[in-house]
Amino acid sequence: MRRSPPGADPKENADSLAGEVGVQGIEALPSRVGRYGKAKTQALEVADFMAGSPELQRMAERVSRCGDYLVFRHYFTVDQVRLHGAQLCMKHLLCPLCAIRRGSKALKAYLDRWEVIRAQKPALRPFLVTLTVKDGPDLAERFKHLHKAQRELWMRKHRGRGSVLSGVSGAVWSYEVKRGSGSGLWHPHLHMIALAELEPSQGQLAAEWKSITGDSHVVDVRPISQDDPVSGFLEVFKYAVKFSDQPPADTVHAWRILAGKRLLASAGDFRGVQLPEDLLDDPEGLDELPFFTLFYRFLGGAYALDHQRRDQAPAAVPQGTPGAVSAVGHRPVHGARRRPRVAT
Ligand SMILES: [Zn+2]
Repeated sequence: MRRSPPGADPKENADSLAGEVGVQGIEALPSRVGRYGKAKTQALEVADFMAGSPELQRMAERVSRCGDYLVFRHYFTVDQVRLHGAQLCMKHLLCPLCAIRRGSKALKAYLDRWEVIRAQKPALRPFLVTLTVKDGPDLAERFKHLHKAQRELWMRKHRGRGSVLSGVSGAVWSYEVKRGSGSGLWHPHLHMIALAELEPSQGQLAAEWKSITGDSHVVDVRPISQDDPVSGFLEVFKYAVKFSDQPPADTVHAWRILAGKRLLASAGDFRGVQLPEDLLDDPEGLDELPFFTLFYRFLGGAYALDHQRRDQAPAAVPQGTPGAVSAVGHRPVHGARRRPRVAT
């Protein structure tokens, strides 16, 4: 198993979402492109593995072409960089590049929602809750077990006969699968942000979870800093699999088992958050500003700046016009659905 070396900057780890948050100016672009390059390299390893199976040839092809080029716009008058164009495979269980982009989008959507909830219900605090089941050799069976147990936990809350979740008014959670570090067996678990006025009791949750699962009392409850909610939210919106910690064979196996399953779910105050399908950046009101376009191409294991040019702000084609085509990549323009902007 490959792991990040001790002391490695988590922002440079292709598995980490941390680098997607924060500075969006031109000085952050080299490390961003470096991170995407590592992700693309891992995607190519997965694609190479799939290419060995005749029935996976097309998928291998699709993943291997993902992110062959990246087009960024630098809105230099305000020093903001946005990913504007890319041909992406959208297979977030196979492709770390798409996983980064998807996680980043979900993180932002739920952080925005949290700001709205917080303004309406100032007594609520976010808690990070982790629920696990015992490791096992059969991923499909273990995942089903975890999924069923989580449903039962929420049913107990809804039945209103006293549950550790009784005080929880909203939650969002995601499933993650990896191999247990000791057992080498599959270890599905879930991370949840639960909103409540009082911290849910870890002891009570452990007992309730054991009575539901029959095989695990291993749970964790900890407060998320209100000053820096991002660090806690990151835990939930990182990826369903840890690409850099598992061989491509495990990545492909997990994809076969989990594809099509809902791995991110919500309840109560967090229900109904819309996740944009588009994995490119939302220009967020920058459309009118002049920009430089920077074309990167993946060559020899890394992205290299192919060329750049000064562009005028596009005046003509409204975003989302049916049939509208982006400047590069000949793909329909997505991203017309704008979420209400929330002051942060
Ligand atoms: Zn991809």
